[in-house]
Amino acid sequence: TDAAGSAETDATGLRTPIVAVLGHVDHGKTTLLDTVRGSAVQEGEAGAITQHIGATAVPLDTIGEMAGSLVDPDDFDLPGLLFIDTPGHHSFSTLRSRGGALADIAVLVVDVNDGFQPQTLEALDILKRTETPFVVAANKVDTVPGWNPQGHVPIQQSIDAQSDRAEGDLNDRLYGIIGEMSDNGFSSDMYWRVQDFRANIGVVPVSAKTGEGIPDLLTVLMGLSQRYLKEDMSVDVAGPGAGTVLEVKEERGFGTTIDIVLYDGTISADDTVVVGGKNEPIVTEVRALLQPRPLAEIRTEKQFEKVDSVAAATGIKVAAPDLDDAMAGAPVRVVRDRPVEEVIEAVEAELSQIDVETADNGVVVKADTLGSLEAIANALEEAEVPIVRAEVGDVAPRDVAVASTADEPTHEAILAFNVEVLPDAKQQASDQNIRVFSDDVIYQLVEEYEEYVTGIQEAQQEQVLDKIARPCRFQILKDHTFRQSNPAVVGVEVLSGTLKRNSNVVKWENGDAHRVGQLKTLQDDGEDIDEARTGDRVAASIDGPTVGRQIEEGDELWAELPEKHAKILEQELREELPTDEREALQMYLDKQRKRDPFWGK
Ligand code: GDP
Repeated sequence: TDAAGSAETDATGLRTPIVAVLGHVDHGKTTLLDTVRGSAVQEGEAGAITQHIGATAVPLDTIGEMAGSLVDPDDFDLPGLLFIDTPGHHSFSTLRSRGGALADIAVLVVDVNDGFQPQTLEALDILKRTETPFVVAANKVDTVPGWNPQGHVPIQQSIDAQSDRAEGDLNDRLYGIIGEMSDNGFSSDMYWRVQDFRANIGVVPVSAKTGEGIPDLLTVLMGLSQRYLKEDMSVDVAGPGAGTVLEVKEERGFGTTIDIVLYDGTISADDTVVVGGKNEPIVTEVRALLQPRPLAEIRTEKQFEKVDSVAAATGIKVAAPDLDDAMAGAPVRVVRDRPVEEVIEAVEAELSQIDVETADNGVVVKADTLGSLEAIANALEEAEVPIVRAEVGDVAPRDVAVASTADEPTHEAILAFNVEVLPDAKQQASDQNIRVFSDDVIYQLVEEYEEYVTGIQEAQQEQVLDKIARPCRFQILKDHTFRQSNPAVVGVEVLSGTLKRNSNVVKWENGDAHRVGQLKTLQDDGEDIDEARTGDRVAASIDGPTVGRQIEEGDELWAELPEKHAKILEQELREELPTDEREALQMYLDKQRKRDPFWGK
């Protein structure tokens, strides 16, 4: 087999470790990657870096030059580092593949001013779950007040040039980060004090803007890879390729293409490949392998250059028919000299690990990659939210159609992570009252949905409360009989609870509640009112009794509470009741249970 173009793999068959850069938005991931690329180009002239599709390879020699005295290239036999370029968005997939991680190693970027933020925590969570070795880049050290920028130098050299005040200030921030790491279950320290980088995470102070500390970061990444990843890096580079889809993209002249990171073996322009698809694995013939043109030729018409074959680790665009249903985060396998069924099974097996549990009823979930879909499904499972449909892709009209057949209002919802809501879908959702929640932080997305559910439940409880009789104790005032009967009209004071029109009125006699009539109207100062609360004195007309016979001035009366209502109030709505109603309810229950201990149970 021919493995031309395997620039990122040396003769011994050690491949380049793949590095993912993660962190909260605006903490400096893009700037960090640009700086690594830019300074590599400055240091090493042509050939210093190779631009891949979705990734940048920095060879060992260039790292040696950039890191100066910190690195002796003779200490290393790994070929360099391959940085995945699409920071953030694909963290869930770059860190997720075949029972482990696509990225071999990661940089967690944390802004020293901003500290840990939601996406920092999410990144930490995935790092923990995938057991990916990583370092923390404590970024933006140049923003410490009074900082005296030193350019592209090792951090110790820069710190030596700072005032005591600025150095102290920086240390405070770094210890803040170390503290937050510890709060999240990671032991960490300044990288120069770390002996065992697996037991203790190294914190590297850097400025992605000025370049301070970048030599240190590269050195630590190189050292970490060399020490702990070397075995994983020994691969059969000539074997059939294996990789992960980073992005599915429409490309003029090529139709739907996939950008992949190849982490094992070789892919050639005449290979048959199997790609994870939305419904089933896609078996297709590679039509072209495409690389970005070198910088010098970037002005030519064509953006890409065709290559015959590439070997891991590399980022490459694959043009092939039938890729419309390919999913970001899905596996890609080269078939070569193997039965195609075997490869399809391998892809299915890998996909089944990411299979999301769905139920007959629940919410619709859409996400940008398989990895993020899995992460969101985990979060929803923890929150006990069932999922009816989970897919990679933008929110489309058919998602709205599914949501609109939901069994209950809380399921008339679509949760969208890092994807677009297509205009048709937006319109249909608003027409059909389907709520669409969009966010790029998983726990915020889940929280927004949970708040919405709480809102619905409260509204439902209020409706129930409206229909249900409410406990109320009131008393007929002395000398306040305005009419004796048909109906009786008397002044009353509400002792506890809420008195409502149309309630049945009972009086306790010999331990039994006797219905004496029905409360017709309530008036306050001649105005009709619907209800009166504890402490209110109002005029009440009661149909049925005659004052002086069934009821007397000074009598304590109750709004009748049907047993079923009492049960709902006590068992489901107790917490929602105001204190005075709760007290009235308790008194009513106590009275009834003196006669029948199981009343309302
Ligand atoms: P991303 O969202 O994590 O990719 O963050 P960016 O790389 O886009 O950076 C966000 C903002 O922070 C931009 O305005 C950068 O110029 C700025 N920034 C990034 N790194 C540094 C740094 O080391 N120092 C300073 N002063 N600003 C930085």
